[in-house]
Amino acid sequence: MKLNGTSLNSLPLNGNGRKQYNNDDLTDLLTDEMGESHAATSLETPMRADAFAMNDDHKIELIEGHFREIMNILGLDLTDDSLKGSPRRVAKMYVKETFSGLNPANKPSATLFENKFQYNQMLVEKDITVHSYCEHHFVPIIGRAHIAYISSGKVIGLSKLNRIVQFFAKRPQVQERLTMQIANELKEVLDTEDVAVIIDAKHLCVSTRGVNDVNSSTITSAYSGKFEDEATRQELLRYVANGSVTI
Ligand SMILES: [Zn+2]
Repeated sequence: MKLNGTSLNSLPLNGNGRKQYNNDDLTDLLTDEMGESHAATSLETPMRADAFAMNDDHKIELIEGHFREIMNILGLDLTDDSLKGSPRRVAKMYVKETFSGLNPANKPSATLFENKFQYNQMLVEKDITVHSYCEHHFVPIIGRAHIAYISSGKVIGLSKLNRIVQFFAKRPQVQERLTMQIANELKEVLDTEDVAVIIDAKHLCVSTRGVNDVNSSTITSAYSGKFEDEATRQELLRYVANGSVTI
């Protein structure tokens, strides 16, 4: 990671025309740079070893208290009828919904079927809804995922593909890691390298703050096995580019 010129230019000059900054400035700059560049440090979601030593109810109770404190510090009146339930609502939402994919206990079990039809072509599940959370700003990432695989002899229930996407999306994420985590899970579950994952998503940290760009979206992809072959990849991209069925 490096500090770029634009950020450093915002710091004051001393008498020699040199940049002058202290440790707090540097820490803030590094934190901003990490957030705005949306860099991920590893493929695995960084978790503490004791992440699940505490049960969900206890987590909700503690988060409720901390979120109440955040609202208090912001100066909000927590006796107001509209606000008083918010700390508990947010705490429950974090543990039970938004970040439920952190807990391995919530991972969808993969029921596989024999490929009785001997269908050995590409299967594409497209336009899977993605609702995730940017781990740098804790605001939503909203988009679509397209998944493809070529059966090695096993097939998976279609809704399981959606559930795998949802499971990894319900974590604080960066889009690149989300894409890779889904691809790796599919490879393991389907016992094949012939897997592709494409995600096209809007980051609310980009559209509603910072550069405030409401139009841009981010596309990430992971191609492996036969999908590294150009013709196979083009076939997939054709399917994805065609409009969806409406019923
Ligand atoms: Zn962000």
